[in-house]
Amino acid sequence: MTESFPAIGPARPSTQAQSLVALVLALAVFLIDALTPLDIAIAVLYVVVVLLVALGGSRRRTLAAGVACVVLTLVGFALSVDVSDSAGSLARCVLSVLAITITSLLAMRNLASTARLREQIQMLNLTHDAIVVYDMEDSVTFWNRGAEEVYGWTADEAMGQSVHRLTQTRFPVPVEHIRAELLRTGRWDGELQRMRRDGKPLTISSRWALWRDQSGKPAAILATSNDITKRHQAEAALTRSEAFLAEAQRLSKTGSVALRLPEEEMTWSDEAYRILGYDTGVQPTSDHMLERTHPDDLALVQEARAQIRAGAPRIDVMHRLLMPDGSVKHVHLVTRLNTATAGHLEYVGALMDVTEATLTQQALQRSLTELAHVTRITTLGELAASIAHEVAQPIAAIVTCADAALRWLHRPQPDIDEATRSIRQMISDAKRSSEIIRQIRAMAQKRDPSYAEVDLNALARESVELLRRELQDHGIEAMLQLDEPASLIRGDRVQLQQVLVNLVVNAVQAMDGVTSRRRRLWVSTCRVEPEQVKLTVRDSGNGFLAGDAEHLFNPFFTTKTDGMGMGLSICRSIVEAHGGRIWAESPDDGGASLQVVLPIQHEDGQ
Ligand code: ADP
Repeated sequence: MTESFPAIGPARPSTQAQSLVALVLALAVFLIDALTPLDIAIAVLYVVVVLLVALGGSRRRTLAAGVACVVLTLVGFALSVDVSDSAGSLARCVLSVLAITITSLLAMRNLASTARLREQIQMLNLTHDAIVVYDMEDSVTFWNRGAEEVYGWTADEAMGQSVHRLTQTRFPVPVEHIRAELLRTGRWDGELQRMRRDGKPLTISSRWALWRDQSGKPAAILATSNDITKRHQAEAALTRSEAFLAEAQRLSKTGSVALRLPEEEMTWSDEAYRILGYDTGVQPTSDHMLERTHPDDLALVQEARAQIRAGAPRIDVMHRLLMPDGSVKHVHLVTRLNTATAGHLEYVGALMDVTEATLTQQALQRSLTELAHVTRITTLGELAASIAHEVAQPIAAIVTCADAALRWLHRPQPDIDEATRSIRQMISDAKRSSEIIRQIRAMAQKRDPSYAEVDLNALARESVELLRRELQDHGIEAMLQLDEPASLIRGDRVQLQQVLVNLVVNAVQAMDGVTSRRRRLWVSTCRVEPEQVKLTVRDSGNGFLAGDAEHLFNPFFTTKTDGMGMGLSICRSIVEAHGGRIWAESPDDGGASLQVVLPIQHEDGQ
């Protein structure tokens, strides 16, 4: 006999109809048994009564029905006892009682195991997994509560239906392949696309097991499934955002790095591997980073490494990499301490390939240096006459003093004191002209900027001194208001002097047409917060139009017929390269005020 997988649905309550039929049948059997002279074991039919009551599923009622039927059999026997056949009547009575008793016991045992089975099924209903059993024709024979929740169909609705039609299953591979694997191995698991009753698509993770009957014939399939739609969507979103991130990292040439201490465990993103020129299979270590570091920047990177080991909250280092093919890359590494727990430090950071930006910056710097040089030469050309005079004047004074000294010495009574005074004056004039020549030579030289400590007050004094003749020739009264003690800044002396000379020459030119008032130039310095020094070059010229203030610093902006319009633009590039700002203002009482703010150098030289 082929044993099939038990088709078990939810327990049904015993119907009143069954009880009524059982009662009527019991009454009929009793009447026939007690009142008719039939000498057959009619009481055996009580067995049917017991079975009918047992169908209701209650062990107590079945027991009660069995006892009642035995009692009725005995009463019937007593009432209908036939004296002529008392032995036969007794045998029939005993046979009936035995049949009723055995049937009742078997029915009760059957009910007990059904109750146990039902309890186990209730337990299957506790799980959130959808558990479905279907026969080899895909007809559902069991559908737990989890399946009701996942698919939206009740057990009553699902029973007997084709599971795959009901849930509109789409298989990852042809279903025949799945069946073949199931028959071969007894198992299959995979992901299925299904549809809920309300039309919502589901992604299901399903595990199938084949159930064979006693003869080994495939009889049913037990499928345990979970709804992984949300997890699937989250995974898809994660994959998408990872792809976005990887793409963004590739485009921006920024890799991410993480480091755990003290284990020195490192993690790099794909882009970090690409920047550092390693295969993604390599287990990254800080030694790998050092291996790529340019030999000239090793000390810098070692220092950053030491800071990390000491638990520094943030590391920001720019250095070069020397790649195996000999090429050089510029990178910017920024990391911060993410977590610090019980002796463990975790840093996360970004490694940016800034080669292009650095090379562009360097090219820009070179252009700026060249342009600054050209404009310096141009300015010197414009000032040639007054500068030549400025140099010639002390030389002429030297000659005069030398003559005087000679005269004091050639007297019959040489006056040594006067001669000494003249010689001192000669020395001072010689120093002055050699200082001017030094400044002009420095300005005329073409060289890369070199940063050093610069006293802005001294620089202002020297620049005004250099242009003294020019100022005199234009009838300009120059006033210096320099803040003491002098603020030191870090910068390129020649470039900063170029800014000052440029601003003063512009002021001189702006006052060219002024006849109605005094031509005055103020050069002042003062400290401003935070840690900055402000240089102001102000004149009593004609000023500029309100709308021009923001254009003055644009390249090629000029209002002069012979102007180039590059002076202020270069001043701005120089000031910004020194970490400062420059702007123009129109003072209320006329003229123009050009303001430069520069950061003050710290005690530690930064
Ligand atoms: P250029 O001197 O060759 O014109 P600049 O870049 O030095 O080039 O100056 C740009 C313009 O800014 C000048 O043409 C002038 O209109 C204006 N400007 C500069 N300094 C002053 C100033 N002190 N007063 C008025 N206008 C000025």
